[in-house]
Amino acid sequence: MTTKQFVEEALTKPFGTVYADKMAVAHYRDGSWTPFEIQETKPFSMHPAAHVLHYGSTCFEGLKCHRWEDGSVHVFRLDRHIQRFQGSAERLCLPIPDAELVDSMVCELVTACKDWAPAFPGSLYVRPTLIGTLPSIGAAAGPSTEAMLFVILSPVGDYFSGGLRPLKLLVSEQLRTAPTLGMVKTGGNYAAALYATRQARAKYQTDQVLFAPDGFIQETGAANFLMISSEKIVTKSLDPSFLHGVTRDSLLQLGGKMGYEVEEREIAVSELLEWAKTGEAALSGTAAVLGGVGQLVYQEENYRVGTGEYGAETAKLRAALVDIHRGASEDTFGWLK
Ligand code: PMP
Repeated sequence: MTTKQFVEEALTKPFGTVYADKMAVAHYRDGSWTPFEIQETKPFSMHPAAHVLHYGSTCFEGLKCHRWEDGSVHVFRLDRHIQRFQGSAERLCLPIPDAELVDSMVCELVTACKDWAPAFPGSLYVRPTLIGTLPSIGAAAGPSTEAMLFVILSPVGDYFSGGLRPLKLLVSEQLRTAPTLGMVKTGGNYAAALYATRQARAKYQTDQVLFAPDGFIQETGAANFLMISSEKIVTKSLDPSFLHGVTRDSLLQLGGKMGYEVEEREIAVSELLEWAKTGEAALSGTAAVLGGVGQLVYQEENYRVGTGEYGAETAKLRAALVDIHRGASEDTFGWLK
């Protein structure tokens, strides 16, 4: 099959299940990083005692490249993703990769795999990953002093290829993860949230769980939460308990410029339920950009959000960001590379 055929087929498959044929790899040994290599995407071997396999010493990033009409391919907010990646590595006591190393790995790999970037509304998803590879099952011995850093790419279609379907969320007072680790993009947080999401799907047919420990809105398993009206955007203020989304930050900056008042503060579940009578709500994240919320389930009760459809203000904000991604409007923030 040609690359073009692979990419076309990828767009018909679930998000993130087809990979470009090349990956970038670097190793950390004896206190420094090896130069990275671009090699064939293929399985690699690890010692069965590798730290990551036992103690979950891993963090990752998720960002996207977009193909413009002129054929050029642009990475969105790479610097910001690298910063978050470094913060995650630091919190997990993994060797922190230099920003320049990650930047070159991503940019050179994307250049080598340019043909794997689908045309709009598809995009090329980039997944940098860091794992602790030291063979050591003595937990008390401490962090992994050896690591592997790799970047893989996955051509993805429009998250909303079936139309902008409004999402249904279960608002739950459970914890998504340990409060001090929410802002760390580590595998264990995702494994930990799966159970609640699966239970909610089985019991309430919800798409996601909106975690609201102590009765205050936090985020879902893979996206941030925003309340949107024609006047303002309200979202939780930053603290270590949740992931500081790059899409969230971009929408707040862009929304501010478009004339929305931006409020970053705590949101009680009771306020959300009141807001839902007239206002819109949405989930923000790299994969879906901005997904409208149509329905909430809270303490066995159903609540419609706004009209129950994908909101007009939500659509307006989403379009403004997507237009920057695809080069249809000027990148005044300097977000693309
Ligand atoms: N929260 C969680 C838990 C996530 O996994 C993601 C996706 N990375 C987000 C929020 C949104 O982050 P971003 O906008 O940077 O993709």
